[in-house]
Amino acid sequence: MDHAPVPEHVLEVGKADTQLEEAFADSYVLFNETTRRYMEAYKQLEEQFERLNVKLEEANKQLRQSLEEKDRVSNYLNNILESMSGGVLVLGMDGRITLFNQAAEEITGRSQDEVVGRLYEEVMGIDGDDEKSALRTLATGESFNNLERELRRGDGRALHIGFSTSQARDKDGRVFGTIEAFNDLTEVKRLEAQVQRMHTLAALGEMAATVAHEIRNPLGGIASFANLLERDLDVGDPSRRLVRKITEGVARLNRIVSSLLSYTRPLNLNTHEVDLSSVVEEATAFFELDLDRLGDVSIERHFPGQPLSCEVDTEQFQQVILNLLLNAIQAMRGGGAIHMEVFADEDAEIPYAVLCVRDTGIGIDEEVREKLFTPFFTTKEDGTGLGLVTSKKIVEAHGGNIRVESTLGEGTSFFVALPR
Ligand code: ADP
Ligand code: MG
Repeated sequence: MDHAPVPEHVLEVGKADTQLEEAFADSYVLFNETTRRYMEAYKQLEEQFERLNVKLEEANKQLRQSLEEKDRVSNYLNNILESMSGGVLVLGMDGRITLFNQAAEEITGRSQDEVVGRLYEEVMGIDGDDEKSALRTLATGESFNNLERELRRGDGRALHIGFSTSQARDKDGRVFGTIEAFNDLTEVKRLEAQVQRMHTLAALGEMAATVAHEIRNPLGGIASFANLLERDLDVGDPSRRLVRKITEGVARLNRIVSSLLSYTRPLNLNTHEVDLSSVVEEATAFFELDLDRLGDVSIERHFPGQPLSCEVDTEQFQQVILNLLLNAIQAMRGGGAIHMEVFADEDAEIPYAVLCVRDTGIGIDEEVREKLFTPFFTTKEDGTGLGLVTSKKIVEAHGGNIRVESTLGEGTSFFVALPR
């Protein structure tokens, strides 16, 4: 700022006041000077403030960017975690679950909301002292790779899972918990078992066919000799009872050998277009002829008004019906009614004609149900365990399928579906 000129009215003051005037002028100059300096300082301050403001804005911008970046990375990681097909969970140091991804929800049948904050053992159904688990990793730091164990789902179903565990560390290397990654292996196990069973079956079939042929001939011999022996014995001879036993035993062995052969023999179908209801009726009527077998059981029919035609090898398919009827009777020692129902299934991908054989017998428990179609599996003292496998084989050769529904103590329904 420039020196302001001394104003007119100050110079016009009387001479006596010269000293005063000078002092006044001096102080005026000083005042001006001070003002100038203040103004300068103010300007500098303003500039400094401006610079600071710019810096602050810059810092703010960087912060915002870094937050956005952090958000993006965290979203990205979260999306990956949620999209993974494997289950992932994280345990805090207190053994409580802090993270549970979507696959974990699906595998365990428990929701994130339900499990976060809860103890690991409550959710993943494992004892606190289990040797190899996420809990041990949490306690000792030891990690586990590709182990397997059972897991009970929220709905009570048991699963077979594969799992790996490891410690969770932050960027400074401090442990903050344990990570467990797991997968549902139930389907893999089931397929493994199925492949195993098929290998066994193939080997078994080969062996059975050979053995059956070998047994047939001597069996025929035994039967004829027993017959001759019986003829030679007097009617009152107690030995006749023993010979009877031999004949019965041979007959039973023959039955087994026959079913073995019919099970192992390759199927050649000789099909015709027929009405399923008629085939069922024919077999049922034949079955009813043996009243002894029926005991206190009646057979009810529910057939549709119009014919349901399918391509069927009648002879072989009647074998299926007889097997199912026999099983039903054998499951109904207390008597009751068997329902034979024929209907069209329009909901399936291809139209099926379905036969349902429903009994009110003892029912089938879970353990038996799994082995139902395994050769030689039987729960009966005089069973062969070949009825259902043979039936299944025949039905599948027709391009159909057979399935079962059962309630223990209430009864069983077998559904045989044939393409129309
Ligand atoms: P088998 O009749 O000679 O035992 P199957 O293959 O016909 O052989 O049947 C296997 C097993 O399946 C039977 O021993 C029985 O335990 C069970 N089963 C089959 N059908 C029924 C049914 N309707 N009710 C209850 N259990 C059944
Ligand atoms: Mg049977």
